[in-house]
Amino acid sequence: MTAAPDGRLPHPVTGEEFASPVPPGSGWPGDPATPKTPVAHDAEDVERLAKGVDLPTLDARISVCRACPRLVEWREEVAHDKRASFRDEPYWGRPAPSFGDKHPQVLVIGLAPAAHGANRTGRMFTGDRSGEWIYAALHRAGYGSQARSVAAGDGLTLRGVRIVATAHCAPPQNKLTPTERATCSGWLDREVQLVTPGLRSVLALGSVGWDAFLACARRLGWQVPRPKPRFGHGAEAILQTPDGRPIRLVGSYHVSQQNTFTGKLTQEMLDAAIARLAAPPPVSEPAGSLGGSP
Ligand code: SF4
Repeated sequence: MTAAPDGRLPHPVTGEEFASPVPPGSGWPGDPATPKTPVAHDAEDVERLAKGVDLPTLDARISVCRACPRLVEWREEVAHDKRASFRDEPYWGRPAPSFGDKHPQVLVIGLAPAAHGANRTGRMFTGDRSGEWIYAALHRAGYGSQARSVAAGDGLTLRGVRIVATAHCAPPQNKLTPTERATCSGWLDREVQLVTPGLRSVLALGSVGWDAFLACARRLGWQVPRPKPRFGHGAEAILQTPDGRPIRLVGSYHVSQQNTFTGKLTQEMLDAAIARLAAPPPVSEPAGSLGGSP
């Protein structure tokens, strides 16, 4: 495949040509932004632009965010240089917005997009081995319309589940700084606030997602057990929303290649963790086991 004279390359599903990174509102499947979507340049902007907006607006603003200089540089450098096996494809090269049901009963929270996965395809967990695992498992559990997830525009939809993130940009070596986690938490807080009314459970993939969700719940005034629940595969904690509804937080080892290749996480283990998301909510927690915001 040859690039257009201006460097644009064809999208693997639609064939439409795009520059890398993809300009907002240029026709990429699922792009929530337009050229006029306001851009956050620092943490204060994130707070301001997340405040009071609805979910589609939040998605759009996340997808053009430039608040973390190190992550912006990295995501765009990766999009420009590309992995050899994807050199004929355009790279999204922007923050991957959350993906799935707008009225979810279940949230899935991981770390951040992968450099050549969601940073390439523009859709959470799409286009890499981690995504093959999680979307196949969600399909087996009845949440996904198909097991395969290769590119935005491939027809995949989720019912009852929404995939969010600790951070929406791919980090170098898959590691976020504390400042980057804190900056992106402004988007996460608003998203969780918006979906709380219908929510019943949360799957945290890895300890970073587990900690990020607990911190978010505290900031939003939820009751969180003390001492802080420890992450582990199969760990479970019951949180309580400000209106007293219990929310089940379930931990799973991350679907990273490192875990799935070595057998640390098997398909059966992942299926068992996902099955618990549909368990009936507990009636109440024993008195004294919950604590509020620090
Ligand atoms: S990680 Fe989050 S806050 Fe930072 S640039 Fe990306 S979307 Fe913005």
